[in-house]
Amino acid sequence: MELQFYGAAGRVTGSCHILRAGGLTILLDCGLIQGKKEEEALNRAPFPFDSSSIDAVVLSHGHIDHSGRLPLLVKHGFRGPVYTQQATKELCRILLLDSASLAEHDAAYRRKNPEVRRDLHAEPLYTRKDAILALETLTGMPYNVRREILPGITIRFQDAGHILGSALVEVWIKEGEVTRKLVFSGDVGQYGSPILKDPETIDEADAVIIESTYGDRLHRELDLTLAEIGGILRTACDMCGNILIPAFAIGRSQELLYLFAQYFANWDLDRWQVYLDSPMAIEASRIYWDYPELFDEEALEFRNGRKGMPYLKNLHLTARVEESQAINKIRQGAIIIAGSGMCNGGRILHHLKHNIERPECSLIITGYQAEGTLGRELVDGAKKVMIHGTSYHVSSSLHTIGGLSAHGDQNDLLRWLGGFKSNPEVYVVHGDEGVKKIFRDIIEEKLHMKASIPRTGDRIDLAALTR
Ligand SMILES: [Zn+2]
Repeated sequence: MELQFYGAAGRVTGSCHILRAGGLTILLDCGLIQGKKEEEALNRAPFPFDSSSIDAVVLSHGHIDHSGRLPLLVKHGFRGPVYTQQATKELCRILLLDSASLAEHDAAYRRKNPEVRRDLHAEPLYTRKDAILALETLTGMPYNVRREILPGITIRFQDAGHILGSALVEVWIKEGEVTRKLVFSGDVGQYGSPILKDPETIDEADAVIIESTYGDRLHRELDLTLAEIGGILRTACDMCGNILIPAFAIGRSQELLYLFAQYFANWDLDRWQVYLDSPMAIEASRIYWDYPELFDEEALEFRNGRKGMPYLKNLHLTARVEESQAINKIRQGAIIIAGSGMCNGGRILHHLKHNIERPECSLIITGYQAEGTLGRELVDGAKKVMIHGTSYHVSSSLHTIGGLSAHGDQNDLLRWLGGFKSNPEVYVVHGDEGVKKIFRDIIEEKLHMKASIPRTGDRIDLAALTR
């Protein structure tokens, strides 16, 4: 009975852990490594196991850094099953197909322009066909239902409050007379965040694998964040320009629409036309809308008062390319929500080209911007940026909103971990090196639990753990 750390142990992304018991091998997540090019190249390294020998995968949530190598696993011979929460199964259809399309697009570009983008590979990591095969391996489960997925292996999903369908994974492992319980956090959401419920409390485990993305810091309070957004929208309105909001298609886009609806009067939103300019975000919004049982009480009440999906009376869903292009002609009064969330691709680039040189326009950054992205350059105060090979002056005003994170902060993570009453062994993963150390120390100091930072390849004998 053994747990081995593989992905997101030595680094932030590429979540994947290997569980072996009773001759069976189960993966917890199978995520893509995202970040710098040299790190992403590691996605092409062979798995440290024979893909066809994996008996099952348990997937915590849809984000690509947790799910994005499933098509690769299938390409190498894995035939399922993959267990995940029902809503995650639906979101994976959007996410995995998009990931495959990007891979195919990059490879085609490299083949056409071999000298221009030497960093790209001429062969896609996987194709849409692989992604479709991977989607066929997914089995959706509701929250809070125990299911024996293999002899001696029982799982249950609890709400992680991170994105729709995100799960805290409980695994009971029985081998002979020995039973141990492992809990895998996936990504843990913020308590009190819009739409979703709070992370569920779990009080019992022998071992807990916990993410630590924001294990070293505290988010701004939601009330202050909302007041800030309201202030920006009201001021921007007097300046007669447009507002651009780069946003992730899943999670942030729905949160923004929901907040706009909640604060419609307070933020003077009837003076604007709101454009959700992303086919992926539109589709994800529909999936969110179809899962009212996963909403918190406030969001449920909001949804019950409305017939159809559009959250706002002045919301335009612009899926088609012509509809998106038409937005470029609008000089004022448009709030444009588009991807990508870090401005490193997608329709937001076209909107930036048309608005970023105009001082009457505003750009609101609501999410994390990784190093090396255009979003990060803008946040860092760049006065000139390159978009599609042309240089643009940054004259629009820029606002960075810190409090809307899908990840819990240090207090949220400690609050969730503090729910365990069984004094589990804690393994800190999925964070920057320095952050993991800070978070491990604070777990030991405040919760008096034994915490460690596993390296890639480290093995834990679960049967040897004693409470
Ligand atoms: Zn996530």
